[in-house]
Amino acid sequence: MYGTIRIERNPSCKTKPGQEENLGFGRHFTDHMFIMDYEEGQGWHDPRIIPYGPLSHDPAAMVFHYGQAVFEGLKAFRTDKEDIVLFRPDQNAKRLNRSCERLSMPALDEEFVVHAIQSLVRLDAEWVPRKEGSSLYIRPFVMATEAGLGVRASSRYSFIIIMSPVGAYYEEGLQPVNILVEGHFARAVQGGTGNAKVAGNYAASLNAQAVAKENNCAQVLWLDAIEKKYLEEVGSMNVFFKINGEVVTPSLSGSILEGITRKSIIHLLNEWGIPVKEQKIAIDDIVAAYENGTLEEAFGTGTAAVVSPIGSLLWQGKSMVINQGNIGELVQRLYDTITDIQFGRTSDTHNWLVSC
Ligand code: PMP
Repeated sequence: MYGTIRIERNPSCKTKPGQEENLGFGRHFTDHMFIMDYEEGQGWHDPRIIPYGPLSHDPAAMVFHYGQAVFEGLKAFRTDKEDIVLFRPDQNAKRLNRSCERLSMPALDEEFVVHAIQSLVRLDAEWVPRKEGSSLYIRPFVMATEAGLGVRASSRYSFIIIMSPVGAYYEEGLQPVNILVEGHFARAVQGGTGNAKVAGNYAASLNAQAVAKENNCAQVLWLDAIEKKYLEEVGSMNVFFKINGEVVTPSLSGSILEGITRKSIIHLLNEWGIPVKEQKIAIDDIVAAYENGTLEEAFGTGTAAVVSPIGSLLWQGKSMVINQGNIGELVQRLYDTITDIQFGRTSDTHNWLVSC
């Protein structure tokens, strides 16, 4: 598919950050990147791995004007046995295609996408950090490159993969965060792009994020755009609640991104015999559960953190403290189980890992 990946090695590799350096998130980039181009009539062609560096594009390239840009995010982990593994990359490839389809962008062969990721990770394998909990974040993206100002789908695209070593999300164990329930701004609407990983969704989320910060909250809990009643996501994570022994998460309504962590967590809960339901959840249901003492745990889920316990929810000026601000048993168990699989500390019985 698309031919052999041509490799042009970087003649001047960078000094890698030291093992003790605080890597942060997305601040350092590896020595190489993957690129493949698309042209109408010709399809995807010329897959290549080249030295990481600036791209040159016409100022009229459509991505700058009408925002045809989608992306993915996944991680490579170094196990204790020095193997390098990816967590469910096939799911990212699938979701990338769903996002492309939503923005009238051409599909990619999913197996080839995984192959391209594997090839790039293999070449920059020394960039996968060794420090406890750290990993290599992988960012595939597709953007429109045709020069022109007519509003229509571009006839040219680039598929690019870049990678960044990232530190452990939690240096000192899980940390509960305060969350603002967002009553004004909306992240996504039915029929919009919320269920795709479209760059513009994140631009549109930034001012609510700023309001959250002003309220001493880490993130916002998004409500549906129309009724401002039903829960959708928390920041850029899916959201789960444990109420009276049962786990609930908003059903995929069309405006929610289907997280791969969400999917994995639902799978684990089913396996463990813990009741889990995907359903419409009104903010009033959460308030009622809080008031009658059945709201046991709340947490976000996503690739960056795996899980993020919610310590409190701020809604209409009132703070609801969950589980006395402590880390719940379930969220801890999910975190331990998933990170143990990712770092090869337990056997991968679900076949979620793919070697590089
Ligand atoms: N929702 C949004 C809006 C996101 O950006 C992400 C991160 N990709 C998620 C949910 C969680 O998805 P995943 O578990 O695949 O990282």
